[in-house]
Amino acid sequence: MRQKIVAGNWKMNKLFHEAEDLVSEIANELEDHEPDCEVIICTPAVFLEMTSDYADESQIKTAAQNVSQYTSGAYTGEISAEMLASMEIGYCVIGHSERRKYFGETDELLAEKTERLLENNIKPIFCIGEVLEEREASKHFEVVESQISKGLFNLNKEEFSNIILAYEPVWAIGTGKTASPQQAQEMHSFIRKLIEKKYGAETADNTSILYGGSCNAKNAKELFANADVDGGLIGGASLKADDFVKIIQSF
Ligand code: PEP
Repeated sequence: MRQKIVAGNWKMNKLFHEAEDLVSEIANELEDHEPDCEVIICTPAVFLEMTSDYADESQIKTAAQNVSQYTSGAYTGEISAEMLASMEIGYCVIGHSERRKYFGETDELLAEKTERLLENNIKPIFCIGEVLEEREASKHFEVVESQISKGLFNLNKEEFSNIILAYEPVWAIGTGKTASPQQAQEMHSFIRKLIEKKYGAETADNTSILYGGSCNAKNAKELFANADVDGGLIGGASLKADDFVKIIQSF
């Protein structure tokens, strides 16, 4: 059976002492209320050592927000999947719309990054989603299908079984405009059917598909109640321990 997951994407927020306070507050709150789902925090690379130390002592898992497509060598400023693995980082966000938009990341590049992660036993949290114009033109299914087939469908069944998907309609990210539970369920069910067609019913049933886009303590319960929504990738609302823990407790 697939895993329920709530992952907090901190993006480029918090200074070191603030990050330390946030992770320790989340860890403390979860100590008193055992979560019914996997909890992951996706922190800036410079905080990974600190946050994964907390992870060792608590229920929280740590994820990187990016990885290089290269294995090692003269790539100044880059971080390899092998380096992340050597720090026991188990997850990495790939294909977030901000990386696609501001850093020109293509589906082909994301396929390479995904391969590097899988070679190092790191689970990609692979983001897909349409922009507003694409939804308004009723192209959202087509766009998501293309992102998944170019970014992931080169993997074999065993490799794919390590993928976590995050459907994040770009028009909902950081805008306060959440997809309705019906819109989320409709897309998640479409994604699961694509997986079923490619890898079979068992793989499709075992794949966690998270929703992301202005998910917060107020709307999480209604979103997570949908049959094909297995949790959330949370941006803004993951930066306050209380809000994030409320979302975790929405299952
Ligand atoms: C995100 O960046 O992945 C995200 C979902 O952001 P927010 O929750 O702030 O919309």
